[in-house]
Amino acid sequence: MTHGATPHHTADVGAVQAPATVAQALRAVAALGLDRLDAQLLLLHALGRPVHERAWLLAHDADALPVDAWTTLSQLSARRVAGEPVAYLLGEKEFHGLALQVDARVLVPRPDTETLVDWALDLLHAQVGPHVLDLGTGSGAIALALQQARPDAQIDAVDASAEALAVARQNGRRLGLPVQFAHADWLEGAAAGYDLIVSNPPYIAAGDSHLPALVHEPASALVSGADGLDDIRRIVHDAPRHLAAGGWLLLEHGHDQADAVRTLLAAHGFADVQSRDDLAGIARCSGGRTMALAGRL
Ligand code: GLN
Repeated sequence: MTHGATPHHTADVGAVQAPATVAQALRAVAALGLDRLDAQLLLLHALGRPVHERAWLLAHDADALPVDAWTTLSQLSARRVAGEPVAYLLGEKEFHGLALQVDARVLVPRPDTETLVDWALDLLHAQVGPHVLDLGTGSGAIALALQQARPDAQIDAVDASAEALAVARQNGRRLGLPVQFAHADWLEGAAAGYDLIVSNPPYIAAGDSHLPALVHEPASALVSGADGLDDIRRIVHDAPRHLAAGGWLLLEHGHDQADAVRTLLAAHGFADVQSRDDLAGIARCSGGRTMALAGRL
């Protein structure tokens, strides 16, 4: 968007008289329908303050609001009301303790996915220098969180979207984490012998009623065929050839797909097949490991 231009969506917001104080600005955007938390985060961003400083807003609610900050806040609020994720408006999302830069080229990392990271870290606990591959890395969230927790791990991450990969690489550089990013379609061209393969692939069914609410995020990161399982089927089919003996495959999936994913894993010879719940108590990830002997043959 051209800086300084008034997007046509902000016509209503622009008509609101500029609020004089921080507290009045919060009330003005709440009246547009923004959640209180969203309003606070966007206001902090508009003021050029770190988004964790919500206490600052309370202590400064009678402060005068600079006109520039109101212009920015009213434009961001209009975009929020139109459904853009707050993370895109802030340009940032916290994931597993990392501040990741995000924009419309990548899926917004979800707290649910921290379940996958924690499970992966548990599995790697006893292993020194494990080799890990993250498929469909998007912003780099999973790979970077694992690398942050395990500096000794050798972590590769791929994405089929060159645009997503640019975001992931930039996050890796900014955070100083040595994940090796590469452009690839799932496991095509991947090495063999990984101790762990992780993925949060697209898993929403093409006709799912949740999709209209997700139009601002890349469809290629969300939708996967008629039942949402096309990409998971491909990964489960191909992963055994790229895993070390006893290596694990962990997948995030939809709230109602755990049975189907465990069945797929078992059908492809995985052992110890199991699922883990997310924060909401929903079986959100499933995984299994290749059998030690089969992997060597
Ligand atoms: N968890 C996301 C959602 O339901 C979907 C992410 C994905 O498809 N991998 O909004």
